[in-house]
Amino acid sequence: MKQLARVPLAQLPTPIQPLPRLSAELGGPQLWVKRDDQTGLAFGGNKTRKLEYLAAAAQAADADRLITAGAAQSNHCRQTAAAAAQLGMACTLVLAGEEPAQLSANNLLDHLLGAELLWMGQDQREERLQAAYEAARIAGGRPYLVPYGGSNSVGAAAYAFALEELLAQGPTPYWIVFATSSGGTQAGLLAGAELLGYGGQILGISVDERAADLQPRIADLASETIMLFDGRNELSAVDVRVNDDYLGGGYAVVGDPEREAIRLFARLEGLLVDPVYTGRAAAGLIDLARKGFFSNDERVLFWHTGGTPALFAGAYAAELAA
Ligand SMILES: *Cc1c(COP(=O)(O)O)cnc(C)c1O
Repeated sequence: MKQLARVPLAQLPTPIQPLPRLSAELGGPQLWVKRDDQTGLAFGGNKTRKLEYLAAAAQAADADRLITAGAAQSNHCRQTAAAAAQLGMACTLVLAGEEPAQLSANNLLDHLLGAELLWMGQDQREERLQAAYEAARIAGGRPYLVPYGGSNSVGAAAYAFALEELLAQGPTPYWIVFATSSGGTQAGLLAGAELLGYGGQILGISVDERAADLQPRIADLASETIMLFDGRNELSAVDVRVNDDYLGGGYAVVGDPEREAIRLFARLEGLLVDPVYTGRAAAGLIDLARKGFFSNDERVLFWHTGGTPALFAGAYAAELAA
């Protein structure tokens, strides 16, 4: 694949490992995990890969500040703050909600990493992001706007390279299952599949949006990402596999399925998944395996996208300890 400008931030390749005890418990296919919770950069996660390319774009623009937005417990914001610190840039984060009485987990890390935190309602996000950008410029700075979730074609390209990395690591999985939200990870994997001729199934478990809303957006982003690599093919919504059966009580609401998934991964494999993204995707994976959705001779890879600092968020303590 064509090389793109990249700033090294991640520890790559991330390992893959089998999940024999979980596979046996579910009586289903052979499960494997790819450990993008181990990318490095302040506890890691999938945004670290995207930020290698986004930070390169920011440096090419001679930026001195990264600005982005996310949820109160955004992993993307935490990793952006860490990337900015490592590269000697300032960082402004626009976080959803009221400023909590006590910072915890990801937003505590944002603070420790030196980011400026701006709190606001969900609906004001775009305006506040623009306002923060303008304020930084007026103050004489050179801010760079990192897209929500790191999900433009430059960020998504990281997951085309990640698929290439996976395919070089050994037996090719037939299924790749992971949490999908802003769609950059899935778009990048789909672009990589197109460019590399991967013939397996790329299944995003939605954590917050309906499949019908997500699929066309991911298809467009995947098509743009393919173009970035000088490819031609365009994807449409039907090419994007999204399962939205596991939205539960809504974004970041921990229910029984997430709690069970977190415990099964922890107690059978010593592996931590998070309450918002990977716990929900793992709950979907577990349910699908129990229902016989995967055939037993198909190799299934769960792509762990990180997020584990949220396990320590005050907001989830009661649910997780129950
Ligand atoms: C952001 C995030 C995702 C979703 O990735 P997208 O590229 O936004 O779809 C999944 N898991 C974790 C832990 C994340 O932080």
